[in-house]
Amino acid sequence: LTSDQASPGLHIIHIAAEIAPVAKVGGLGDVVTGLSKALQKKGHLVEIVLPKYDCMQDDRISDLRVLDVVVQSYFDGQLFKNKIWVGTVEGLPVYFIEPHHPDKFFWRGEFYGEHDDFRRFSYFSRAAVELLFQAGKKPDIIHCHDWQTAFVAPLYWDIYASQGFNSARICFTCHNFEYQGKAPASELASCGLDVHNLNRPDRMQDNSAHDRVNPVKGAIVFSNIVTTVSPTYAQEVQTPESGHGLHATLNSHSRKFIGILNGIDTDAWNPSTDPFLRFQYNADDLEGKAGNKDFIRKYLKLSSSDATQPLVGCVTRLVPQKGVHLIRHAIYRTMELGGQFLLLGSSPVPHIQREFEGIASHFQDHPHIRLILKYDDALSRSIYAASDMLIVPSIFEPCGLTQMIAMRYGSVPIVRKTGGLNDR
Ligand code: ADP
Repeated sequence: LTSDQASPGLHIIHIAAEIAPVAKVGGLGDVVTGLSKALQKKGHLVEIVLPKYDCMQDDRISDLRVLDVVVQSYFDGQLFKNKIWVGTVEGLPVYFIEPHHPDKFFWRGEFYGEHDDFRRFSYFSRAAVELLFQAGKKPDIIHCHDWQTAFVAPLYWDIYASQGFNSARICFTCHNFEYQGKAPASELASCGLDVHNLNRPDRMQDNSAHDRVNPVKGAIVFSNIVTTVSPTYAQEVQTPESGHGLHATLNSHSRKFIGILNGIDTDAWNPSTDPFLRFQYNADDLEGKAGNKDFIRKYLKLSSSDATQPLVGCVTRLVPQKGVHLIRHAIYRTMELGGQFLLLGSSPVPHIQREFEGIASHFQDHPHIRLILKYDDALSRSIYAASDMLIVPSIFEPCGLTQMIAMRYGSVPIVRKTGGLNDR
């Protein structure tokens, strides 16, 4: 394993399920990279641990290589070998764990949405802590993110601290309280946690289903500090209406719970250097922005006869949280008002995906409306650059990054006043 350099700052290790641009589903990936780069710039030693997904964009990792060690980690009463890869993402050292487990946990062609996600990520959390322990790391902070790595907090304090791996304090950031990773309590035992000890109301037991454990609740209880991604959202989730069942837990741990507004990495999102843009531009010279608008209209076969016709963009995961009915409404309303509408989105929810496929084919050759139903980073950048406005009509929004990216690209965000959309 690579040795730690002497660093005047803190040693911070992120354990996460996403990192942009290599393994990104949404804002979590952006934040893991952006926050780590910002901390590194301040002189801290930052390392990151991720699963080695088969569907990662390996070409965005430099110096990817296998380390000459095998880390064995516990699962279902046995030890399994893990191959450890290391590489550099945006200047950041990242360890990728490849389990040698017959279930091929990260060999599924997708990041999430598998029937055994609880097993996949409880396995990964255990293997990640084991890697740090066996490598003799002495981090000051272990920072875990969302339910997929929430297991790290109870694992660390219940299993590893007593073995002398105890230099760190645990920070847990919840990027969205909608996703809690609940499962039948018995499943917790697979990664070595003590179900009997943890399936209690003051620990990991879900607040509404007593035969289920809730990883996010566990991380709230067991972490030293719990953060979420905006001050308004932090207040909202402490209310019964918006707490997704965790408001009471958050209230009783409110002294260690804080909302810190996310930001974007202004180097990664910069219209004057963005290599994916046809024309680069900056706030003092917007000619390139007009060029991008003209280009994308021609590229997507939209009418380009009137340069002043407003172009409304939307870049989003199509899930109920994002206000899909309001997005649909905005498409028709923009058309009525004489604008153009461009949507880039994809949905993990089959009926929403089908519905938008229907709308997309209805407007297939329309001169003013285009829906592109996929995930495409390069195209998203062209849309931010080309749009005059970007809509973010979320029903709730922990922070939201697309409104910040829009502002960076000179597109006016139109948002619902909720969560982080209220804070910036
Ligand atoms: P969430 O994390 O809830 O999806 P955020 O606004 O925090 O929402 O972050 C969304 C991130 O994902 C942004 O970087 C946005 O550009 C990107 N994104 C969302 N949908 C797509 C898509 N279909 N193609 C490319 N990028 C997308």
